[in-house]
Amino acid sequence: MSFTLYDTRQRALVPLQPRAAGKVSIYNCGPTVYSEAHIGNFRSFLFADLLRRSLEWSGYAVTQIMNITDVGHLTEDDRADAAGEDKLQKKARELGWDPYRVARHFEERFHEDRRALGIQDAQAFPRATEHIPEMLVQIQQLLDRGHAYLPEGSGEVYYDIGTFPEYGKLSGKTLEDLRAGARVEVNERKRHPADFALWKTDAAHLMQWDPHSGELWQGFSGTRPALDPRIGKGFPGWHIECSAMSERYLGAEFDLHTGGEDNMFPHHECEIAQARGATGSEFARHWMHARHLLVNGAKMSKSAGTLYTLADIVALGYRPVELRYLLLSNHYRQPMNFTLDGLVAARSSVQRLQNARTRFSERARPGGPSAAASPAVAERISVFERDFGAGLNDDLNISNALAALFAFVGDCHRLEGGADDAAHLLQAFERADHVLNVSRQDAAKAGLIKKSELEQGDTTKLDAAALAALLARELSPEVVQEIARARHQARRQKDWGTADAIRTHLQRVGVQFEDTPEGVRYKLP
Ligand SMILES: [Zn+2]
Repeated sequence: MSFTLYDTRQRALVPLQPRAAGKVSIYNCGPTVYSEAHIGNFRSFLFADLLRRSLEWSGYAVTQIMNITDVGHLTEDDRADAAGEDKLQKKARELGWDPYRVARHFEERFHEDRRALGIQDAQAFPRATEHIPEMLVQIQQLLDRGHAYLPEGSGEVYYDIGTFPEYGKLSGKTLEDLRAGARVEVNERKRHPADFALWKTDAAHLMQWDPHSGELWQGFSGTRPALDPRIGKGFPGWHIECSAMSERYLGAEFDLHTGGEDNMFPHHECEIAQARGATGSEFARHWMHARHLLVNGAKMSKSAGTLYTLADIVALGYRPVELRYLLLSNHYRQPMNFTLDGLVAARSSVQRLQNARTRFSERARPGGPSAAASPAVAERISVFERDFGAGLNDDLNISNALAALFAFVGDCHRLEGGADDAAHLLQAFERADHVLNVSRQDAAKAGLIKKSELEQGDTTKLDAAALAALLARELSPEVVQEIARARHQARRQKDWGTADAIRTHLQRVGVQFEDTPEGVRYKLP
């Protein structure tokens, strides 16, 4: 199946053309970890999650990298050359903390919220502060290739946008617009007002690096370049981290780059100028951007009390999965207006899907079907998967995909035959729900696995899906049941090592687990 996407740079719907057949590499601009991510940020991250899961539905092997910005992102980031104070440093000052403590704290909060919202782990979440050498390599390449310059005596390095005629193509801005616009910093050291900083010096900055110290380059796996000795002790501009880290993890060329629409200018424009300027390569083949989230029809604002975090939503009595559904069910390229009424509607949709899962599970043959589906059921599953996939593959047309899913769920009363048919329907439902990831979350958090259920099956090996879910901490009653069964079998065979290892791992991921006369009682975290 071919995947069609709206490519921001080409301003058109185009077929995804991955560089290697069957594989897609994606770089997502991640959070700046100076405060809790708000629901607008999560709209963009959920879009990236849906994109990855949809591509996996189509059979692609996806490599996804999301950066963690922990230095260099200045407060006035909408200017062609950002100005103001480093967001991390500002927060560190306000809290009286070390900026690294601020960064690690809010990074951990981001991951907690991300997991609660059912967003898959990327293969890597590289931090800017841990990739300074990679950034200096690109900065030196840009100097060598004539795309960057050092204003005399400053120790700083600027990108010379006059050397990169494509600058502005992604966002549709021209150099003349930029010259005329007010959002450029007038700085006589710069050749063009919109030239932007690759490396800045500021003796008062709490996070800075000496580019020439051997310590900085310890453990760097690439070739240490001959750095221009005039580059001073300082810190990187925000944009250079993404071009440097995407090259480090995905290579100089990769398939897809995503972000929120506010990243388009200047951040992505600068990334393109840096990466293509430094390596001469194509950089990202396709660009996708999620639109802004409005709250009650207006831009989110702290003072108006509309800058919601996930914790705020939970405090209002909603579940993370309901927010996930609401944010996902609005097409990423449409402006979205968030309201609490929207969450109420999302709650009932999620409930319908969770009920459908329960109904299929109750009737399905445990452990999967043992016979082919009846012709009517096989036909219905095939039509459903065709329609659901067609929706996803049409630039993530979530409305069509959801319409196909709800039609399928609605038909299933009529279709449920024996345990095998129900097991086939359950499997089809679960494949689709792997994309949406809304019916498992927050399902029954505690329960009893009866003795008779533990006896089913005769292997101590964990089923691969259960193992993967355990490792990814995507725990559900079904997964715990599978794991408990494997442990029970191990104990029966007096394989105490395996039984203990399973128990230890369950405890490590926060599952409470108790052997009782009736069976195993468990509680999910
Ligand atoms: Zn970025």
